[in-house]
Amino acid sequence: MRVLITGGAGFLGSHLCDRLLGQGHEVICLDNFFTGRKDNIRHLIGNPDFELVRHDVIDPFKFEVDQIYNLACPASPPHYQYNPIKTTKTSVMGAINCLGLAKRVRARVFQASTSEVYGDPAVHPQPESYWGNVNTIGLRSCYDEGKRCAETLFFDYHRENGVDIRVVRIFNTYGPRMHPNDGRVVSNFIVQALKGEDLTVYGDGSQTRSFCYVDDLIDGFLRLMDQDEVIGPINLGNPGEFTMLELAEKTLEVVGGNSKIVHQPLPADDPRQRQPDISLARQHLGWEPTIELKEGLKRTADYFRQTLDS
Ligand code: NAD
Ligand code: UDP
Repeated sequence: MRVLITGGAGFLGSHLCDRLLGQGHEVICLDNFFTGRKDNIRHLIGNPDFELVRHDVIDPFKFEVDQIYNLACPASPPHYQYNPIKTTKTSVMGAINCLGLAKRVRARVFQASTSEVYGDPAVHPQPESYWGNVNTIGLRSCYDEGKRCAETLFFDYHRENGVDIRVVRIFNTYGPRMHPNDGRVVSNFIVQALKGEDLTVYGDGSQTRSFCYVDDLIDGFLRLMDQDEVIGPINLGNPGEFTMLELAEKTLEVVGGNSKIVHQPLPADDPRQRQPDISLARQHLGWEPTIELKEGLKRTADYFRQTLDS
């Protein structure tokens, strides 16, 4: 197949490029390099099955493809809040452009949605049937509401035009190729520990997240795209739930060094808790994560050690 990946030079997108090329597909990677990096895909340049296109998803694009993965959107809070109007445009216009293309060329189209559609959840753990608790006017809304609107567009194109959609709600995922200055908690803690700096825990550190290693997540993407039974939305994430203080302590165990834990103010609207209910993924995709947090942190720390050294 020929597969288009928007946001293909980003953290998740570049791993997806690798996996699809490994399966013998052709990949077109479309990216505007806002948070993505050529370094993530440098090893693919020159591969005759790989094409790189610098383009912004808010402007229409045309390719003859069999599948589309729509991943283009900054994912880290500091990055998506840098230009919030652009973030909403990226989610909404990007979805419209992908869906329009999918409709025209009859491609199966995948949307990278997010656990942020649940906002600060009042139901725990979060099943797909939960409608969420999102502040429509807060600092995170550009991302949350953009992604919610994208889900709406996917399902309306499916109902109105028969577009063949797949929608995943991704919970916090980490691993090699995260940007060292990305601002997300796993990369922050590991890079801080490697540099011997203090680990910055926001608030009292009792808020929770569930962390999925990137290889597990990409496996879930492929399973969803390779079957005809379910279209989603379907949660993908690791149900292991940790407080940010526990994550900081685990990071120090893995990386070593003399860093201390310091507290900084909690950002506005920071969700108190988050844990995926992955019953649907288990049942329909036979999917569940296999890589424990400690092992994943070790692999990610090895990557950052090499990156920082070079
Ligand atoms: P990332 O920031 O590393 O990757 C996003 C990619 O999209 C980058 O390469 C960036 O340059 C590109 N991009 C951004 N705006 C664009 C635009 N207007 N046009 C073209 N390209 C654009 O983030 P990631 O972690 O790889 O996330 C990928 C997708 O998965 C995002 O849609 C994100 O919302 C979603 N997601 C990720 C997580 C996670 O934990 N990693 C969780 C939930 C959802
Ligand atoms: N966080 C933290 N220290 C950091 C970065 C983030 O304590 O240096 C906290 C943040 O407040 C949130 C959690 O870690 O409670 C996860 O943050 P991240 O930005 O990785 O993702 P999200 O909030 O979107 O889940």
